[in-house]
Amino acid sequence: MLGQMMTAPLLISSQIAHAARYHSATEIISVSTDGSVEITDWATVGRNARQLAAALTALRLDPQTRCATIAWNNRRHLEIYFGASGGGLVCHTINPRLFPDQLVYIINHAEDEVLFLDTSFVPLVASIRDRLKTVRHLVLLEPDIGDHAGTLPGLIAYDDLLSGGSADDPWPVFDEQTASSLCYTSGTTGNPKGVLFSHRSTVLHSLACNLADSLNLSAMDTVLPVVPMFHVNAWGSPYAAAMVGARMVLPGPGLDGASLVALIDRYGVSVALGVPTIWLGLLGAAEAAGSTLSSLKRTIVGGSACPPSMMTAFRDRYGVETIHAWGMTEMSPIGSVNQPTASHRDLAPDALAQLRENQGRPPWGVELKIVDAAGAPLPHDGRTEGRLLVRGHFVLDAYFRMSQENTLQEGWFDTGDIATLDADGYLNIRDRAKDIIKSGGEWISSVELENIAIAHPALSDAAVIGAPHPKWDERPVLVAVRAPDHDPSEQEILDIYDGKIAKWQIPDRVTFVDTLPRNATGKVLKRDLRDTFADILQ
Ligand code: AMP
Repeated sequence: MLGQMMTAPLLISSQIAHAARYHSATEIISVSTDGSVEITDWATVGRNARQLAAALTALRLDPQTRCATIAWNNRRHLEIYFGASGGGLVCHTINPRLFPDQLVYIINHAEDEVLFLDTSFVPLVASIRDRLKTVRHLVLLEPDIGDHAGTLPGLIAYDDLLSGGSADDPWPVFDEQTASSLCYTSGTTGNPKGVLFSHRSTVLHSLACNLADSLNLSAMDTVLPVVPMFHVNAWGSPYAAAMVGARMVLPGPGLDGASLVALIDRYGVSVALGVPTIWLGLLGAAEAAGSTLSSLKRTIVGGSACPPSMMTAFRDRYGVETIHAWGMTEMSPIGSVNQPTASHRDLAPDALAQLRENQGRPPWGVELKIVDAAGAPLPHDGRTEGRLLVRGHFVLDAYFRMSQENTLQEGWFDTGDIATLDADGYLNIRDRAKDIIKSGGEWISSVELENIAIAHPALSDAAVIGAPHPKWDERPVLVAVRAPDHDPSEQEILDIYDGKIAKWQIPDRVTFVDTLPRNATGKVLKRDLRDTFADILQ
């Protein structure tokens, strides 16, 4: 017997329709590219998104046409998220920090026909325009195109495009498996690979985000996605925020600590999402500005391992809870979130703080397991390390234009991470498989060594790599950035490891650099460091 309940496809348009109808006056605060602040609301964003969908339809684009964005986190970008996808097209967010050759590759591979861009990126797009084979419409995210016509012939203004559509018709209804958005992973080797999300996977991911034991967004919150909208859809936060009618603050191009502190204090941000390096800058800026970050209740930190010392600083100095999360583009991205369970209720504060340090447990919709090199399952005992495999409702099946056989192993996706899992599913990411240090047959986690280094006030940044060693194959080397006004010696830094880890895990060398090389999504480029310091132990 079939169930007898109403069914409707799970479409992204239902999220914006809900926000526009039931949270119409809830504010969307957006910093424009010129730094000015614009305050609108969900009703306006909903109406504009619907109008954009109609205007794009009027361009006679085929269903599923890719519409690219090269843009900051701002109101028009938010409208494109819902308008392009809601109209049956694919919203393809692009990371402007990629090399121009990678941008060209991605845009041609995706066969983008529309390209929306912020004014900051006019010179970048102009420099590659003649290599973009499929782009037919260039749209500037401004009321008018100003003096950019000469730089980018054919450019039209977003607001002019919008006026070609009407917001009167209901959103179109189609299959929930339809592709909704596309994001390329900035792999460190080979060409970037596309992850094509569907309406269904996006709506289910939003539900999983909004669970109380997950990101727990609500209509009571003011949400600040510092994580860019071109990095896995700002971790899905715009969709999740629309679904619950949260107030949003979109920070535009100013992602430095001082700008963020000002936004948090001025608009009463309660939840902010971003990578650890952003929060390091923010902590310093809050102290310099004398801010107490009084509205901020929690930060959601992921993208790379959150140093425990940062959690302590947020908690002890500002009363802010840090929620450590792990995920990846291929997972939409949420894979695990660190929230306690009732069994931790009686833990002493220190023990609870320690529990909150790892990457947490999977929400409904995600399954995790670890396996050995041959693919055999390993115990979930909180100690055994193995390759982390995942599957679930919002995990990719195949990369865009690649076959499933090349992507999955017997229905599971190999994350490329090395981790432990405990019986309750708490995950501890030890390293990327390619970054873990293999010393004399033993593995050393670079993450653990980095966390200890970064906790030291004399250092402002740190990365640990495995350097080739004549006897042990590889040994750890700490590449560190001195904090302003500090001048620690190599030995002083090595001494901080005493008593914190086994002696054989202590780095062989410390070397100081001015800055660490990072990729387009802010992750340290360890391969570059390994090349630079290949001979340091020879
Ligand atoms: P991306 O797809 O660019 O978001 O990168 C995903 C990768 O980032 C994961 O496979 C992890 O290696 C790393 N990552 C993300 N979040 C964390 C975290 N909380 N701790 C450690 N590594 C993380």
